[in-house]
Amino acid sequence: MFPKKFFIQTFGCQMNVYDSERIAQLLTARNYQQVDDPARADLILVNTCSVREKPEQKVYSALGRFQDLKRRKPGLLIGVAGCVAQQEREKLLERVPYLDFVLGTKELRRITEFLDLRETSGHRPCATALGGRVDPYQDLPLFPPPGRTTAFVSIMQGCDNFCSFCIVPFVRGREVSRASRDILEEIRSLSAAGVKEVTLLGQNVNSYGNRAPGEISFTDLLEAVQRVPGVERIRFTTSHPKDLSPRLIQSFGRLSKLCEHIHLPLQSGSNRILDRMSRGYSREEYWEKVLSLRRTYPEISITTDMIVGFPGEEERDFEESLEMIERVQFDDLFSFRYSDRPHTRASDLTEKIPEELKQRRLIDLQSLQRKITSGKSRAWEGRVAEVLAEGPSKAGAEEKTGRTRTNRIVNFPGASISAGSLLKVRIEKALAHSLRGELIPE
Ligand code: SAM
Ligand code: SF4
Repeated sequence: MFPKKFFIQTFGCQMNVYDSERIAQLLTARNYQQVDDPARADLILVNTCSVREKPEQKVYSALGRFQDLKRRKPGLLIGVAGCVAQQEREKLLERVPYLDFVLGTKELRRITEFLDLRETSGHRPCATALGGRVDPYQDLPLFPPPGRTTAFVSIMQGCDNFCSFCIVPFVRGREVSRASRDILEEIRSLSAAGVKEVTLLGQNVNSYGNRAPGEISFTDLLEAVQRVPGVERIRFTTSHPKDLSPRLIQSFGRLSKLCEHIHLPLQSGSNRILDRMSRGYSREEYWEKVLSLRRTYPEISITTDMIVGFPGEEERDFEESLEMIERVQFDDLFSFRYSDRPHTRASDLTEKIPEELKQRRLIDLQSLQRKITSGKSRAWEGRVAEVLAEGPSKAGAEEKTGRTRTNRIVNFPGASISAGSLLKVRIEKALAHSLRGELIPE
């Protein structure tokens, strides 16, 4: 019998990319085959994100595009997973009559059970239990796909911080750290399948292990990953500034495999807004952490997330955000217009900022950062960087793409270079979103 084919469309963050990979592994274990064209699929899964701006609409329009395929192929199954599934639950089934199942964020292990149920009973299943501090990946079979150089590994789920703007604790549940034993086993199997770089994922990796009695700390986990043979590089995201400990800061430069890049979301440069966001740190405390990181490793790359137009943000608050960006000189940043999310405390705040003003602030903030980023990129010209080759660049197989330890994309001619090679590349030119270089022969 020919294997059935599945297609996964993933929206949102790295966490969702990781979940899609684990779902793909479960399906592969059931003799399904992944395809990149939904028209060839027997199963389409839309893995969704609801962190920002009308994500439900994106999901409904994605589903709308697949409706026609379902008409032409009545056996086709369509499911929704992820944060929008968790948020909308049965409502999704009510609104989309051709939808076959809804899989919540902590229910991904039930995917094959749901396919069987749908096919045998005609029932349209929906499971969205968050189940306390339960690890959704525990005991799932591991089938790392071959041919990969980099991989994500989720080390924790959910969040207990309840920042006032954020939906994550409501759709991903309470913070739960995976057992370090399971994480290390997963990393060993990724390494055996050829992976050279792992990125440890969590909403707040700095608090890894804190709520799991007997578990090791995040810094100890980094040390254990450092000892896994075959792994050449370690990254992690995201760090919450309030929990960034001196010991973790000291790991940069001390652990040879730990890449010198930290994503440290600031969100706002105004203490008044940080307080309303319930972030748990002030701009002064954030700045102290930046100084401490740079004292430990002067060339460390620091990136951040910023929100503009949080309810009540006045012009002087926004100017304080610009001032912090200027002061810190981030290597890069992701910036977002504030949007109300269900269940969050900020959504009940009055003093909403008009969309045009948010947009103007976003443009101003991004143009400041563009100048900083391009100055930082130009500073690379003429220098030599260690690059991990990840595969062909968008320009074709003659050219390869990879990243520096500080997470900058580098493209360079190298037809004979295979993915997974650690190389020395001389940076010739800084472009808007990447660097161009020439390989230095060994
Ligand atoms: N855990 C990370 C932290 O503590 O910073 C952030 C995770 S959140 C999934 C990713 C980013 O989305 C946040 O850093 C924030 O900038 C942005 N974000 C979250 N909720 C938002 C909202 N309601 N409106 C706009 N941006 C939002
Ligand atoms: Fe959301 Fe705050 Fe948790 Fe980050 S730390 S996931 S912003 S609640």
